[in-house]
Amino acid sequence: MLDNRGRKINYLRISVTDLCNLRCRYCMPEEGLCKKKHEDILRIEEIEEIVQEAVKLGVNKVRITGGEPLIRKGIMELIKKVSAIDKIKDIAMTTNGALLGKYAKELKEAGLNRVNISIDSLDKEKFYEITRGGNIREVLDGIEEAKRVGLMPIKLNTVLIGGFNDDEIEDFVNLAANEDIDVRFIELMPLGQASTWAKEHFIPNTIILDRFPELIPLCKDDKGSPAQYYKMPKGRGRVGLINPISRHFCSSCNRIRITADGRIKPCLHSNYELNIRSLRKQNMELLDILKLAVESKPKEHTINNYEFEPIVRNMYQIGG
Ligand code: SAM
Ligand code: SF4
Repeated sequence: MLDNRGRKINYLRISVTDLCNLRCRYCMPEEGLCKKKHEDILRIEEIEEIVQEAVKLGVNKVRITGGEPLIRKGIMELIKKVSAIDKIKDIAMTTNGALLGKYAKELKEAGLNRVNISIDSLDKEKFYEITRGGNIREVLDGIEEAKRVGLMPIKLNTVLIGGFNDDEIEDFVNLAANEDIDVRFIELMPLGQASTWAKEHFIPNTIILDRFPELIPLCKDDKGSPAQYYKMPKGRGRVGLINPISRHFCSSCNRIRITADGRIKPCLHSNYELNIRSLRKQNMELLDILKLAVESKPKEHTINNYEFEPIVRNMYQIGG
């Protein structure tokens, strides 16, 4: 379906839980969250129904995210159901990778195509610090297992944080050069826990190009992807830059998001949401709710404007 600005919306991102087994400092409060009531979270069957309706509007790509999707009860069942929907061409997951060693094979068998794995440091102590207790060994084992079972291509997501991991840029770029893995640097966004962080932690991704002028820009094979990709000369994997702040990609945005508690978010950086369950209670058809969400996508976010109203949702609720 085309939105009011002529953008083709074919990508649905679904957060299946807002709970997580890690506590990344920029994302989750240290004490974790008050668990939502079971009945407030979308059931697996409801998510399946949403995808089935979204397919009628032209959605052919789904990403499962969270919180941490691998701690959601029924996750395998959901992957099976979604991958069985005829017109879905791509089903991917964003995960912190800690449980991938255990579940990668089952995920692949259930029909998952590929994974994005978040990893903000390659150093054991720093990883422990930023995740408040995470074990990097589990994530590295998870990456290996994902490779072994063919959850490919593997993309690593690294949030660039000034004063924390900007000294590791070279290690990440070398990782992409030496392995069949894409490393994507994401600019830290001022929301959730990071909304009150000091300015020096927010650094533009352009510093990666300043440090590695030899990176060769690649043509975009997926116009809807927010990443601009580069390659080191003779590099195996790619280096991706995702710059939601310094150079936003609103004009090619192809996605809508569903939160674990059943709100559709037409734009990540807007507080406007449609509550699926309450609109259905008012006798609105699910298909019409989805259409309304697509039609109400804003032209672009205003995060760089002084009148920008910070969003109230945290990333663990939206899923990235
Ligand atoms: N738990 C999974 C994970 O970490 O991959 C999926 C959910 S997590 C919210 C999705 C992505 O959002 C992660 O790559 C995470 O680093 C990123 N993220 C969270 N808060 C962010 C922020 N303030 N700015 C930029 N990226 C953020
Ligand atoms: Fe959990 Fe992902 Fe947020 Fe880290 S970024 S706390 S792994 S939801």
